[in-house]
Amino acid sequence: MTTMQVCTATCGVCGFEQQVQVLTSTNAFGSPDLDLRPPPMERETIALKIQRCDGCGYCAASLHEGSPQMKSMIESSEYQLQLQNPAFPDLANSFLCGAMLHEAAGKLNQAAIRLLYAAWACDDCGSTTAAAHCRNAAEAMIVRTNESGQPVCQQGDGATDCLRVDLLRRAGRGADARKIISAALPKITDDILRKVLKFQAALIKRRDMGCYTVSDVVRE
Ligand SMILES: [Zn+2]
Repeated sequence: MTTMQVCTATCGVCGFEQQVQVLTSTNAFGSPDLDLRPPPMERETIALKIQRCDGCGYCAASLHEGSPQMKSMIESSEYQLQLQNPAFPDLANSFLCGAMLHEAAGKLNQAAIRLLYAAWACDDCGSTTAAAHCRNAAEAMIVRTNESGQPVCQQGDGATDCLRVDLLRRAGRGADARKIISAALPKITDDILRKVLKFQAALIKRRDMGCYTVSDVVRE
């Protein structure tokens, strides 16, 4: 069961106080998606992964994390335009703004995770074009994260390759995904990861951009 609590949060950037919902417990039964999105009920708690300040527009996992030094970034036209961007659902805009702040702070792995969450928020609203934009941005941020030496997937490079392949395939970039599969398969020894990549190759071949779970792969 998912349980929540309403708390008063104070924005660390502007000091505004507001009521926020906080997740107190949830569960996950079933298989995660190939992009690691958890199964229900945790799946449905995505909106609780970010808070948005009604005073200044600061977006973060917890509003109290902010500091007044972030004010200039939040007041920038780039940030404010993203916050209200009509091409994305509100929740996705919050994650995209959160990603922007992490990127500015050099926390590229945290930015990549926010971009992935933004894609899931778009999926939930059926916003296919917006979801593809977020997946492309997430994949690019994963590449930058790798280049900077920060960890992406705790499970290692093979798992990171699998995630990139899923992001690209679901964004309609099958040819780019196929290149990663070709480069990764000779190096990966883990049986499940090899199965995932071969499963992805078959999906790409039939131009399938759908959502699949790890158990779909194991069942093959
Ligand atoms: Zn604020």
